[in-house]
Order: sequence, then structure tokens, then C-alpha cells
Amino acid sequence: MSGTIDLTAPFDGIAVPLTAVSDPVFAGLMMGDGLAIEPLSSTLLAPCNGVVTHLARTGHALTLSAANGAEVLIHIGIDSVRLNGEGFSARIRQGDTVRCGQALIDVDIDAVAQRVPSLQTMVVIAGAGYRLSARASGLLQAGITRLLSITPGETPATGASGAAHAEPSGPAIRRPARVAHRNGLHARPAALVQASLRLYAAEVVVEFGERQANARSVTALMGLGVDEGADVIISARGADAAGAAEAVIEALQAACAIAHASGHNPAAAAVPPPSVAANTGTSADTSADLIGWRGVCAAPGLALGRVLRLDQSVAEVPERGAGVDAEFAALARALNQVRLELGQAVGDAQERRAGAESEIFAAHLALADDPELIAAAESAILQGQGAGFAFRNAITRQCEILLGLNNALLAERVADMKDLERRVLAALGHAAGNGDAFAEFTDANAAVIVVADDLTPSELTRLPRDQVVGLATALGGATSHVAILARALGIPALVAVGPRLLGLETGREILLDASRGVLEPNPLAAQLAAARWRIAEKRRQREQMLESASLQARTLDGVVIEVAANIVDAADAREAVRHGADGVGLLRTELLFSERSEMPSAAEQQQACQAVLEALAGRAAIIRTLDVGGDKEVAYLSLPHEDNPALGLRGIRGGFAQPAVLDTQLRALLSLQPLSLVRILIPMVSDVEEILRVRRRIEQLAGEMQLAERPQLGVMIEVPAAALLADHLARHVDFFSIGTNDLTQYALAMDRCHAGLAARLDPMHPALLRLIAMTVAGASQHGKWVGMCGGMASDPEAVPVLLGLGVTELSVSPPLVPEIKARLRQLSQAQCRAEVQALLQLDSAEAVRAAARRCWPQDQSE
Ligand code: PEP
Ligand code: MG
Repeated sequence: MSGTIDLTAPFDGIAVPLTAVSDPVFAGLMMGDGLAIEPLSSTLLAPCNGVVTHLARTGHALTLSAANGAEVLIHIGIDSVRLNGEGFSARIRQGDTVRCGQALIDVDIDAVAQRVPSLQTMVVIAGAGYRLSARASGLLQAGITRLLSITPGETPATGASGAAHAEPSGPAIRRPARVAHRNGLHARPAALVQASLRLYAAEVVVEFGERQANARSVTALMGLGVDEGADVIISARGADAAGAAEAVIEALQAACAIAHASGHNPAAAAVPPPSVAANTGTSADTSADLIGWRGVCAAPGLALGRVLRLDQSVAEVPERGAGVDAEFAALARALNQVRLELGQAVGDAQERRAGAESEIFAAHLALADDPELIAAAESAILQGQGAGFAFRNAITRQCEILLGLNNALLAERVADMKDLERRVLAALGHAAGNGDAFAEFTDANAAVIVVADDLTPSELTRLPRDQVVGLATALGGATSHVAILARALGIPALVAVGPRLLGLETGREILLDASRGVLEPNPLAAQLAAARWRIAEKRRQREQMLESASLQARTLDGVVIEVAANIVDAADAREAVRHGADGVGLLRTELLFSERSEMPSAAEQQQACQAVLEALAGRAAIIRTLDVGGDKEVAYLSLPHEDNPALGLRGIRGGFAQPAVLDTQLRALLSLQPLSLVRILIPMVSDVEEILRVRRRIEQLAGEMQLAERPQLGVMIEVPAAALLADHLARHVDFFSIGTNDLTQYALAMDRCHAGLAARLDPMHPALLRLIAMTVAGASQHGKWVGMCGGMASDPEAVPVLLGLGVTELSVSPPLVPEIKARLRQLSQAQCRAEVQALLQLDSAEAVRAAARRCWPQDQSE
């Protein structure tokens, strides 16, 4: 074996000390020592000559055996194993001999970056016995800059066995185990297995089929290719064999102890918490790369922008009320308005497939209904307090209880309580002090990094998305809801930076590298240059996608599918056009009616909808009549209390119960111009008479208005009865729009806002597919077309299924238009039609999804 070898940088990028990467296993050097890179290029190059002794099936990691015997493990991205190979394309095979600088793996870094907590790439020397020196820092050039040098030490590593232990003796004991780690025995679980043996001397081997691996060798364990749920045998020999085997079994069977691979919290636990020293400003940051302030990564990403300090002063609320009746009514009105807002937030998030976000607002919705909270506020009102003062006190008491439980996770829920407080106070007319921060900010075009003490979920969602590029908070935790939301919105966020953060003055340019857990208050020129390059590159790629989004979505066999947008107002309509939408597939008019004290007049409604048509510049708009009632209350409509809101007077039933409201809206819609671009959509229809009654009313009103033209009329198919009667309904309408949010709720009898059922509320359930097939069959009997405006249309996995079932218009949230168009362009309608029939015969949504993934694998390169 030769002596020292130099590794060259495998990517362009910025060197990151391994101890600073956002994965505790790598940062804790459990895989071995090395260096990491924040990559800026998209092809991984070999850092030295060597043999590829292991190439992950998923293409995100490999091991090179170097000339001096060192095993160089390269792992691209944090948690990237769960992409199952999407975004990685290996140019070499296991066993290949490669030369330094040779291209090994192509990475679609934009696509991967959006789906993993961090792109940080770790280069690690597995096993002991090597001295690492000349570690690089700062900017690296792939294939040119030296990354580090490796010199074999006095105790050479023993290849894959990785350890030098006394020769074990005694008979081997054998124990079965099942690998519980998500995605199988990949790098991090393997490192846990290895770490579990640190206190034992026994020789332990993991057997999988005919293959065996030393349990102390991470690379050997990965090389077994063990999948999640697979059975293995642990064979141990030596004086402490029994204990060692148990330790390995525990490491294999415990669901990953470092849990950030799934669910809501991908990046959260990944960055080690900031040291107290780092947060107080004393110098714990000795590394050349960590000159900035440390925090906890709440949402990964890189941002460069000017500081905007949010003023979070609390609203002034008078203690005394204006009488019990008035304050009771005010509180009820405010709570109703908040419920409406939160219901809308849940719906919007569901439509954007932002599951975490919808669950957070669903939880807030549940808080707004909390009987204890409301009772506490009401009892204070009875003693003469004002509604706002009483509600704030009730919240404060709840927060004190949560904070007294000594449970960090529950303590973070205080922000949710405060969020509800702020919403209710705002609805009562007591605005908090942060509303004008942006208005006061002099440079309206600047990219902004919002700096605050802490943020609540609704503060975050109210921030202008086009200006805010990053978030940093002095307080907060990585499991807070605002952290989850920041990830969902794709805004890099660093929390728990410490009080010195609040000393940053508005307007100062800072660099936020949330993935590395660092905020740089005084960025160097090189750091700025690298950050600008990478941010610009990402923008360029996004713009490319947007450019093709404005073209038609034509399938491989030439079928044009309309991709429209779900919107609530003219601003959304402009956003939809910017994203290439072919029109509006659903204008929810509820927003026009909320946040008001009296009903909007026909003229006001006409103006709002006409503004939408103007923004669409010649594209058509499907406008749905009011869908309130049940849990979506509007105070001035005085709808009756519902014991079972989802099954009560909502949608068109509410319209018939309040004919003046329906008439006003129909008049407004009939006065839009041009009517040829207006399509009226009726929600919650469940029988033919309902649509006939609406049609008669439209005829009467249009006659009174002396209109020569009629807008198209359609019904939402969102009640199973409507799908079952599609052939009858189709006779009387121009089109159908399937609302899978409700159709799923009603077909599966699962509340759409029920957090505990969210995972099972899947429109890919075969029962739903059959209802959709029935709807299309009914429509086609009368030559009518079928669109979809429910959340299913936004799911790229569902798109081929819908194409195969005969849906010809998909209406999605505006930012998703480019992605859905891109997906359609990869598909052939004829092939989808042929494949989809088998899916209707399956037993479960999981089986449908598995079959869809097999039939129509998603091409990430698009
Ligand atoms: C639906 O039910 O799928 C739908 C689009 O309507 P909403 O979500 O507004 O109830
Ligand atoms: Mg609906």
C-alpha cells in the first residue's frame, strides 16, 4: 500500500467541516472522519484513483477503495436515500476502476434540493487508522482544489472489517432480526449498528441470504443491500457475544433513533443544537468556515437578503367590555371569522399538497373550537371583561399550563396558542404591531430575511412570499409549527439563533445558510459570490420550467389537456397566468363573503369577478357559487346551527335556504362580460332537481336582464350521489368538475379535516377511481366534458390515472401548473387508458399507488 494520497474536490462548492453538517451521524463522526461540501455543480467527480467497492442501488452514495487502502465513502445529500434513486444517475458500476476527476454520478441538484433537508455531500474515510490533514476551506473547484490528504497511520485499517480486535473465541451465537429502518440498511442505520458495538469486543457478522458483512463496517453493511422489513441473522462470537448481538439487534430493529427521515420534521432534528457559547456570542466558532452565528436549521436552504426586523408588539386591548351581550356576540363573530380563515387555510394547503401545513391549520381550527378556552373567556366576559381581554387571559392561562409541563415539544405549542390569540384579537379589531413592517421598509424590491424574536404560523403565512427569502428567529424550536411551515413553503429558516439576532438593524445585507445552521451577519466577498451564483442558478432553472408552462399540455399521443388554476381573487388570477394556467378551473367565491360585516352587493361581487376575468386576458373562468354553511360560517348570513355540519345546509342547499343570497350572486355572475368566458359551477349537488332549479332561476334572471347569451353551467361532482347519477345530471349541464376533497370525504366517510385520518383520506382509493370512471362515463353519454378541481388533480402520481379515466381538465393551485403540465407531456393517453382499467380492480389506495408508480414512473429530469 502506498502512503499519503490527496483527494480532490468532487463537486464545485463550499467546504463544510464534517462536524457542522446537518446529520448527527456524520457530524458525530460515527461514519469516520472527513469533510463535507455544499455542492454548486451537478456531477460528482472521483476524488482519487480507486475501485468502486460499493455503489448504492439508489445512486446517492458510493465507496471508493483508494490506492493506499483507504475506503472513501461519498454520500450525496442528507436523507437522500428516501428519494429512491430519483434525481441520481450513476455513470459507473460497482467494481469499476475509476480515475481521479472522472464523472461518477449526475445529480439533478435542483430537484433533489427540493426534496431533501440538505444537499451537503459528505466525503468520509471509513474506519480508523488514517490521519487526515490539509483540509480545505472556502470555495472548492471540482477536480482541481485539494479537499484533504489521507495518510495511513500506525494502526492501519483492516479493510472492510474496519477494526482490530482480539481474536474472538467460543461458539457463535445466532439471533434473527428484522430491519426496521425506513429505506433499509443505508448509511445512517449502518452507522448506528457500528456504534452499538463500541463497548463490545465480540466479532459480529450480519447475514442476509448468502451474503455476510462485518457489523463494524458501515460500507460492508450497506453493501448487503438490506431493505426495510428484511430478515437478517446476527452471528456473534466472543466473551461478550450475547450482549453484542443484542446491541446490534436493537440498533437494527429500533426505528431510526435519529428520526428525521420522514413525516413533518425532515430537517429539524438534523442540525445539532447550537452551543450556548455560540449563541451568547463568545467564541465557540473556531472553524474558519463557521464565522457566522449558529442556530438550529428549521428549513434548509440558502438565502441572501436584507434584514427586516418584525415589530411584534402586542395589541392594546381594553379590559372592560361594552356589556355582556355585545361582548359575547363579538367573541362569537370573531371566532367564526377565524374558523372561516383557518378552514380556508386548510383547504388551500390541501390543494397545494402541503399536508403538514393543512394539519397545522386543522389543529388551530380545533383550538378555535376548544370548549374550555371559550368557556374561560365567556366566564370572564360575564364578570365585565371585554371579549379581547377575556380571550387573551384564557390563552395566557393555557400557555402557562403548557410551559409548566417541562416538555419542550409541548412548550413549542405555545406559539400556536399565541397565533390563535393574535387571529382572534385581529378579528375583534385589535391589530398587533407587526402589520406595517413591510410598508415601512424603504426598498420594496429588496429580497428580505425576516428577523424576529419568534414567529407564529399565521404571521409566517401572511408575509409577502415574493419578497421574503429567509427567516431567522432568536427563539423557537425545530419542531415548532412555524418550522414545519417554513419547510412546506420552501423558505430557508434558522431558529434559536439567540438574542444577539435582534441587534441586527433593518436593511443590513446578511447571508443565511440554514442548511449549515449558520447566519453570517458580515458575509465575505467569496461567500456572497458563491451564494449569488447558486441562487441565480436555481432561479434560472425555475424560469425555464415556467417558460414551457405557458405552452399547451399536449400528451405524447397529441391529446391536449387543459391545466387551469384554483383561485380566490384577481391577484391569484394574475399568479395563475404567470404560471402558465390555461384558465381558472375553480374560483371559490367564499372569500368575497368573509371578513365583512354585511353581504357584498351584486355590484361588488360583479366587480371582483370581472377583475378576475380581466386578469385572465381572454381565458375562461369557472366561478363557483357560494359554498358556505356547516362549519364555514358567515356571521351576517345567520345560518342555523348544525349538529352535523358536513352533512347540513352547505353549498347549493344553503343557496336554496337563502334564495336572496343566491339570486344576488347569480345576478352578479350574469352581468360579467364576456359571458362566453364565464362558466358557473354549482357546489354540493346531489340530485337532478337541484340543477334544474338553478337553471330555471338563471333563465328567469337572464330574462329579466334581457341577456341574449347564457354562461355555461356545470356541477361539482363531490357527493357520491352525483357521481352515481352522472348520466342523468349530464343531460342538464355543460360540464362536470370533480371535487375530490369532498368526494373522498363523503365516499370514505372520513372528515376531511380530521388529523388522525389524514393519511387514509386518499383519493387514489379504488372506490374513488370507480366514482370518477362513472362520472366520465355518464358525461360522455351526453357529449359533456369532465374536469377536476379537487386536490387529486395536483398530485403528479394521480395525473396518469386521471388521464386514463378520461378527465380532460385539471385545475390546480397556481404554482403547481408548470409541474402538472410537465407531467402530462410525459404521458400517452392511450397507454394510460389501457393501464388504468386494472387499477379499478385493486383493493386499496396503497395498491393503486404502488401500481401507478410501476406503470408511470416519474421522470425527475423534466
Ligand atoms: C372539493 O371538494 O374537492 C373542492 C374543490 O371544493 P372545496 O375544497 O372548496 O370544498
Ligand atoms: Mg367541495
